[in-house]
Amino acid sequence: MPAFKTLDDLTDIAGKRVLVRVDLNVPVTDGKVSDTTRIERVAPTILELSQKGAKVILLAHFGRPKGEPVADQSLSLIAPAVEQVLDQHVAFATDCIGAPAADAIAKMQDGDILLLENTRFHKGEEKNTPEFTAELAKNGDIYVNDAFSAAHRAHASTEGLAHHLAAYAGRTMQAELEALEKGLGQPTRPVVAIVGGAKVSTKIDLLSNLVTKVDALVIGGGMANTFIAAQGIDVGKSLCEHDLADTARSIMETAKTAGCSIVLPVDGVVAREFKANAENETVDIKAIPADAMMLDVGPKSVELINGWIEKAATLVWNGPLGAFEIAPFDKATVSAALHAADQTKAGKLVSVAGGGDTVSALNHAGVADDFSYVSTAGGAFLEWMEGKELPGVAVLTKG
Ligand code: AMP
Repeated sequence: MPAFKTLDDLTDIAGKRVLVRVDLNVPVTDGKVSDTTRIERVAPTILELSQKGAKVILLAHFGRPKGEPVADQSLSLIAPAVEQVLDQHVAFATDCIGAPAADAIAKMQDGDILLLENTRFHKGEEKNTPEFTAELAKNGDIYVNDAFSAAHRAHASTEGLAHHLAAYAGRTMQAELEALEKGLGQPTRPVVAIVGGAKVSTKIDLLSNLVTKVDALVIGGGMANTFIAAQGIDVGKSLCEHDLADTARSIMETAKTAGCSIVLPVDGVVAREFKANAENETVDIKAIPADAMMLDVGPKSVELINGWIEKAATLVWNGPLGAFEIAPFDKATVSAALHAADQTKAGKLVSVAGGGDTVSALNHAGVADDFSYVSTAGGAFLEWMEGKELPGVAVLTKG
């Protein structure tokens, strides 16, 4: 990955207006922020800039208001939680451009923090129009992007601004990019990928890219059934996309040409009902009963997967190996996650995980803190794993 500038390059910024794009798209229940993780992730960047004496002006989106103000998607609802996490006063402006923003900025002292209203209240944000971007740019001298999770979108506040102002990566963006570089950019080999989850259809691009980059691809979860069925094995009532048999075979062909080993389950835990503690049995992959569905990979498969984790110097992981939300079908995911965490703690493995349910699966296993890096960036993490260029990152690295 080409170099990008970080906060280390921002030395003399006392009194400067720094526009910081952050991710404050947090869950809210009954008007209250129910999970402050995303705010905690951007806090170091905000506090560092404030401590350096900058006027810190926060830009963010919240929800999908489609270009006009929507009362319950106002960032004023999030401001108290931001204040609480930062333990510092945070002023609020009722618009991210025009007089409300300009007036609030004029009142700022060095080190102050100001949150501007939802950028998506303007159509120009998602359309990335030059007019809107120019209006935003008037509010700042410097642009810092700390919202990796929004970097797969070429919006005014995530991409456009970098064409107007000198652009820098915030600490969270920097940490994400450095971890991703270690994961797939310039990884130490062998690299093993674990991909699980429900369906092949949502991860075709991901699988196709990974087989050209990694030394081994472990396929688990519901999607493994599609690969197994594509080899002529009966998967009974298991979740399976039979129409994607050709796609599965072609991914396996690409892997063969690229020298990537595909690791499929050799046994499975099957049940007749998709519910917690459903009666279940462990069977060979070739002996799935016609009326049963595979809800987790079996113990022999876990042994095989753990063996690959031991061989790996780098592990990238997306998606659970089974229906981990319902016991006991969380066993394989938990066991492999614990093994990866142990290898990481022993200094033998760089482990990078992320995307959708992966974070909750690793939290469920209690190992999220033991991985080298767990990205909370959902869509952006997946697009990066798919080998796509993220506009918000490209603009930081290409200038
Ligand atoms: P994804 O969002 O694509 O990563 O898929 C995650 C979902 O896949 C979780 O909700 C799991 O319960 C589900 N899942 C994993 N393995 C299976 C399986 N063998 N059968 C049905 N669902 C599964």
